[in-house]
Amino acid sequence: MSEFEDAVEEVYNALEGKVDKESIFRELKEFMDMRVPLNEAKRSVIRKYGGTVKNLGSEYRSLASLVPGEGRLNLRVKILSINPKEYTTSDGEVRKMFYGNMGDESGVLPFTAWQLNIAIRKGDCVEIKNAYTREWQGQTKVMLGQNTRIELLPPDSVKVKSTLRQAKVAELHPGMGLVEVEAKILSAEPRTVSVDGVEKTVYSGTLADETGEIPFSAWDTEVRAGDVLKISRAYVSTFRGMPQLVFDSRSEITKLNREIEITEVPVSIDTLEGKGGFNALLEGVVIDVKDGSGLIYRCPECRRVVDGMNCPIHGRVKPVPDLRIKAIVDDGTGAVMCVFNREQTEKILGMTVDEAMKKVQENMGISTVITEMIEDKLIARPIRVRGNVISEEKYGLRMFVKDFSIPDVKDIAKNAQKMLDEMEW
Ligand SMILES: [Zn+2]
Repeated sequence: MSEFEDAVEEVYNALEGKVDKESIFRELKEFMDMRVPLNEAKRSVIRKYGGTVKNLGSEYRSLASLVPGEGRLNLRVKILSINPKEYTTSDGEVRKMFYGNMGDESGVLPFTAWQLNIAIRKGDCVEIKNAYTREWQGQTKVMLGQNTRIELLPPDSVKVKSTLRQAKVAELHPGMGLVEVEAKILSAEPRTVSVDGVEKTVYSGTLADETGEIPFSAWDTEVRAGDVLKISRAYVSTFRGMPQLVFDSRSEITKLNREIEITEVPVSIDTLEGKGGFNALLEGVVIDVKDGSGLIYRCPECRRVVDGMNCPIHGRVKPVPDLRIKAIVDDGTGAVMCVFNREQTEKILGMTVDEAMKKVQENMGISTVITEMIEDKLIARPIRVRGNVISEEKYGLRMFVKDFSIPDVKDIAKNAQKMLDEMEW
C-alpha cells in the first residue's frame, strides 16, 4: 500500500466508516494538490466530516498513555535494549523473537517482537506502525507482531524520559522501580543455573557505597570483586527478608574509573523499617533485655528452647544448656531486637555456659541470676552491632549479631575528660 492509500485507510477508520473511501480519496487529493502536507490533509478531512483527530491512526501515541489491550498503535521510540530469544513453535520449528525496553519523552515500556521487518539495535530511534499492547506482570507491554512495520528514524531523534531513580545503597528498597546505583563490588561468585532449559551464569555477592552494603544478583553480566560500577536500570527484590539488587543484560553496566570509599558509617534504624538491611552497622543504646535471655535449655534434636525435659516435637529429651541474649538497641530513630549467640553472650558475661550453670546452682537453681547479670552489663550502655537485619511484620526488626563492641566505661570517661580538656574546662 502506498502512503496515500494508507492515509485514506486511516481517515476512513478515524471517521469510523461514516464516509466512504472514494470521498476521502477525493478530499485528500484536493488538499495534496494544494500542497498541504499529508498529515495536515488527513486532519483537515477528519475535521470537515466532524470526526475526532485523536482517532487518527497516524497520531503517535506516547508510551505513558498506553494501557493493555490496545491495537493499531503508532509509536516513535528509542530502543533502549533488545535481546534475542529462541523459541520452538508447536510444530518443532526454532524461531527467534526479541525482547527489551523502549522509551520516549513520556516514559519507558518493555516490548516483545515476534517478528522484525528490519534489524534494529540498542540505541536506534524507530517509527513503529501497528503495534499492540498486552498486560505483562501487572504492566503494559508493547507487542510487535507480523503486521507491525518498523522504520529507522535519524539517530537521537527521540528523547527518552529518564525514569531511573538514582539511589544510594542505603536507600534501596523493593518497589522503587528502576534504579541507578554507583557501587563497588565487594565479592562476586559465579554459578550456573538452568532457566527454561537454558544455562545461565549468575554472579552473586555483595556491593557497597558510602552509605551501606547490599547483596546482589547479576544475570548474564560478569562482575568482579573490586570493580567500581555504575549500574543503571537495576531493580530491588527481597531475598531472605532483606533487600537485594538485581541486574541483567537489560541493565546498563559502566565501569567507573574512580574509587568508592567504603567507610564504617552506622545506618539509622528508621531506614531499616519495613525492609531490613544486609550486614548493617548500628550504634545505639541497650534499652531492654527481653525474656528468654540468659541461661536457656534446648532440645538436642531441633534446638527449640524447652521448659523442663519435654520438647513439643521430640517428647522427653535431655536438654542441652545454652546462653543467648535478646536485647533492644535504640538509636533515637528506632529500635532493633539484637540476638546474641552463646559465644557472644559468654563474652558479654565474662563467663562460660558451665560457669553460668554453676552460678545458677549456687543461687538455689534460680536462673534469673544470669539474666540480672546481663541487664547489669548491658542496659543503658552504648553498643555498636553489625549483622543482617530482618524486617517482619510479626517481630519488627531483628538482627542476628555478627560482631559487636561495647565501649569500655573507662574509655568513655577518658574520652569525656579528653573532650572537656579540649574545650578547656
Ligand atoms: Zn525437639
